[in-house]
Amino acid sequence: MERELNEECAVVGIFNHPEASKLAYFSLHALQHRGQEAAGISASNGKKLHVIKDRGLVTRVFDEAKLATLSGSHAIGHTRYSTAGDDSILDAQPVFARYDLGEMSIVHNGNLTNAAQVRQKLIKNGAIFQTFMDTENLIHLIAKSDEDKLLDRIIDAVKKIEGAYSLVFQSRTKMFAMRDPNGFRPLSLGRVGDHGYVVASETCAFDLIGATFIRDVEPGELLVFEEGKAPESIKIFEAEPKHCIFEHVYFARPDSNVFGQNVYQRRKNMGMQLAKEQPVEADMVIPVPDGGVPAAIGYSQESGIPFEMGIMRNHYIGRTFIEPTQEMRDLKVKMKLSPIIDLIKGKKLIVIDDSIVRGTTSRRIIRMLKEAGAAEVHMRISSPPTTNPCYYGVDTPDTDKLIAANMTNEQICEYIEADSLAYLSNDGLMRSVDGNEEDYCTACFTGNYIL
Ligand code: AMP
Repeated sequence: MERELNEECAVVGIFNHPEASKLAYFSLHALQHRGQEAAGISASNGKKLHVIKDRGLVTRVFDEAKLATLSGSHAIGHTRYSTAGDDSILDAQPVFARYDLGEMSIVHNGNLTNAAQVRQKLIKNGAIFQTFMDTENLIHLIAKSDEDKLLDRIIDAVKKIEGAYSLVFQSRTKMFAMRDPNGFRPLSLGRVGDHGYVVASETCAFDLIGATFIRDVEPGELLVFEEGKAPESIKIFEAEPKHCIFEHVYFARPDSNVFGQNVYQRRKNMGMQLAKEQPVEADMVIPVPDGGVPAAIGYSQESGIPFEMGIMRNHYIGRTFIEPTQEMRDLKVKMKLSPIIDLIKGKKLIVIDDSIVRGTTSRRIIRMLKEAGAAEVHMRISSPPTTNPCYYGVDTPDTDKLIAANMTNEQICEYIEADSLAYLSNDGLMRSVDGNEEDYCTACFTGNYIL
């Protein structure tokens, strides 16, 4: 399996609303946490598609004047996460193409596991690729399909791809939303305005634009949106749910409901469960902001140890993974987080974070807290050790960079300079999401890959 350039992202589609591109823009704001590297919107006025995309945050890419050019009642949008390697504007989405049936745009969240093979075959048959994105495969598969209608071509194309995908397609008059048979990545359907519909990666987008949640798009389901009709549901594949557990651990926004569950509540449960499994005597529980906050509240409530915001976060700096090089990541942690010295001096701290990946964040934070005078720092992680890379759309590094894949617990504890280190168990994690283990992909923690 090969890592491709298209991972953790957000998708949105607005159908049949006079302010479609504005609603897509606001939705992308709500979904900005899913990708900060690039943003784009494609709008249709029924005759033509118009695409604007660029590198940077949603606020940087769009302004009033640009949005005004994206007229029409249908729009799809995307925010792209940073992955090491190429940061070319060509790798921003929506991916747009003209082909024999007209024009289409596609946005994609996830990662196709057979992308390299499909691409190779397409290239051998004469296809010319412009980007490194696996999403471009879909454009070629649709363009080359022998079917007469776009709907049938989409069905033809998704049958040739494997992996994780929440997709939204747009033609000049229609919109299509599709989720892979495992439903790795979230995708929800809602109503907006008098006659409009919205699909989005997370329900926090619905709340912002005043949409009403209808239901999740089912794994293996294709939804067809056509003016004057209710969305048509076509079951392309039998649903075999394997929802990404990391959405609940880290990725989704706490005010979203993903896979039918509220993210904040689940993270708080993880903290409560962690307090039961890994208690330690201390003066206060402090989160690594923002990811560790709900779990730290849970840990504090369960253990009775006071919760304090011992570390402040500078909100004007993006996530630490944004810069691909190690040096930049180190610097970003420092720029982003600072301790409240008067609060923590001489105190025994339980520090909660949602995950340890390379160990960089924990090491920096613990050093910072000790320099600020903390007497003891006990690191508690509200998920199990991340021991395996993700091939389904989360940007985890390769095994050689995953600290828990290469060191024992004691070695990691020593490396991050903590007084103790403990993680939530796999069972505890499942209990926290009220989940049947069968319904989740836990490969990053267990190595049980589905595809
Ligand atoms: P590290 O410093 O490599 O150990 O990364 C762990 C920190 O990054 C934690 O604070 C997590 O909240 C955060 N994190 C975990 N996974 C990801 C991810 N895929 N993308 C961005 N940040 C992450």
